[in-house]
Amino acid sequence: MRPTVLCFSGLDPSGGAGLQADIEAIGQSGAHAAIACTALTIQNSQQVFGFEASSRELLLAQANAVVGDLPIRCVKSGMLGTTENISALAEFLRAHPDYQYVLDPVLVANSGGSLGNQETLVKAFIELIPLASILTPNTVELRALTGFDDLETATQKLFEMGAKAVLVKGGHENTPDYIRNALYIQGEMVAESHCPRLQGEYHGSGCSLASFIAGRLALGDELVQAVQHAETWLFGVLKNAETPVPDGQKIPKRF
Ligand code: PLP
Repeated sequence: MRPTVLCFSGLDPSGGAGLQADIEAIGQSGAHAAIACTALTIQNSQQVFGFEASSRELLLAQANAVVGDLPIRCVKSGMLGTTENISALAEFLRAHPDYQYVLDPVLVANSGGSLGNQETLVKAFIELIPLASILTPNTVELRALTGFDDLETATQKLFEMGAKAVLVKGGHENTPDYIRNALYIQGEMVAESHCPRLQGEYHGSGCSLASFIAGRLALGDELVQAVQHAETWLFGVLKNAETPVPDGQKIPKRF
């Protein structure tokens, strides 16, 4: 049985983001994906209309059903939706300290739609940060989590909050020709990548990247190698992304 990543993520009916992105990305990484569904969202490639979150009992029951059943090596979280789900995940991770954990601190959809109450989610994420092997915030999430505008200060603040490693994703920065990502471990920048900026908006790019990293970690890659592998893979699937309707975000073609 392939090493397994257990994802705590939401259902996106468009199939671009959320648990479908996780399943496809983890499958492409070579690992197996299992899902504890945090929420059912109502959305398409253009906007989010709403969501209904799983209860903490339902979420934990799903996760616990596969513990001991599948060879879980890593946990990955995306949309968690409620503070109750965040504390349920923290409880689950504390019970399984041998699992690696990739924390994608999802606050809003790329389309701008709400995936939870941002103010309360930010406060609740504080409990998860020290439990993560790596956080993968975009710069909007990084600023929201720390309250600092300057990216270096904000990144160091995450380390003060207990982070072990942080991949800062620069897709939301005003760099028209390129995107710069920077990987920090224990407060030190250990790798930097630049890729050409592709035109348009993409649905589920963050989910895909974090899940591919989780898959590679489950398979035994070191962190730097897992991130580089995932960045190279993501660029390819975004280049091949498909546009559903003229105003819609592009859906990555993950295979
Ligand atoms: N999870 C779910 C269920 C979502 O709907 C979204 C965005 O729409 C995300 C996560 C985050 O998506 P992205 O990878 O575009 O940041």
